[in-house]
Amino acid sequence: HAARDEGSVIAWFDNTVSSRLADRLRLAGRIHSAIDAEFELYFQPICHASDGTPAALEALLRWPQPDGSFIPPGEFIQLCEDTGLILALGRWVIREAARAQRQLVDAGWDLPIAVNVSAVQFFNSDLVAEFQRASQEFGLARGALHVELTESSLMRKPGQAKQTMQRMHEQGIHISLDDFGTGYSNMSYLQHLPLDILKIDRSFVADVETNPRNASICRALLSLGHSMGLTVIAEGVETPGQHEWLAAHGCDQVQGYLLGRPAPLVEVIGRLELAAV
Ligand code: C2E
Ligand code: MG
Ligand code: MG
Ligand code: MG
Repeated sequence: HAARDEGSVIAWFDNTVSSRLADRLRLAGRIHSAIDAEFELYFQPICHASDGTPAALEALLRWPQPDGSFIPPGEFIQLCEDTGLILALGRWVIREAARAQRQLVDAGWDLPIAVNVSAVQFFNSDLVAEFQRASQEFGLARGALHVELTESSLMRKPGQAKQTMQRMHEQGIHISLDDFGTGYSNMSYLQHLPLDILKIDRSFVADVETNPRNASICRALLSLGHSMGLTVIAEGVETPGQHEWLAAHGCDQVQGYLLGRPAPLVEVIGRLELAAV
């Protein structure tokens, strides 16, 4: 009697678990195709400050609307984090970035692509495996993908962050610290992280030539980054004056509307070809 009860409980359990699993897989499939249908990846060049030649591309999510406008990532990333959708979306971004890097190489441009990863994604998915899988699928070289993390996400769980970063480093994934200067980093902690690149937030770059306070901050961040042996990138470079100031102060790379707005990959490749002739 007891055994039959147990059996039926197990049968019931098996049934619901497997049908729930099937539901979830169907849902996952729908989410994937929905993501594929709704979102697009744009790419923005990151250039050598000295001569403006391209050093890398950054992948940036776009959510186009029927009227031709875009909902900016600033407005939907948070929502995706709150609902957990960021995990599927983030996985899609990694795979699309890998596909794009393959296309770039095939077009004769061997530039790495930097992928933004949000805090929720960083701590709740097996990023190393996702990068590995995508790189393998598209036959990418070691170092073909970079990852961009923010201070605030690293500071949430410093121990786990360091471990994940070390595993990424072993896979040849370069790590950038994004929006640098806007968070509250513990400098002695930062020093012990396997970082490669520091990205100065665009709020400091905006009026670097005219605002002595921002000029001091940029000088300090450049010197900090270089003393840690990092490549320093300035974000949000919009004018030749900003570019010149940054190059003169030893900034390694620049990114911003001056060098190129984010655009679909084919358009970026077209611009690279035009600039190269
Ligand atoms: P971010 O990673 O710091 O990306 C740089 C942002 O600055 C992008 O905004 C870019 O379009 C913008 N930008 C570039 N040059 C200039 C310039 O000269 N002037 C100005 N005013 N802005 C410039 P976007 O594309 O709206 O993205 C905003 C943020 O959303 C990103 O900041 C990043 O934190 C997040 N994001 C974008 N794509 C993804 C993604 O695939 N995954 C995740 N988790 N976050 C993403
Ligand atoms: Mg699409
Ligand atoms: Mg970024
Ligand atoms: Mg940034």
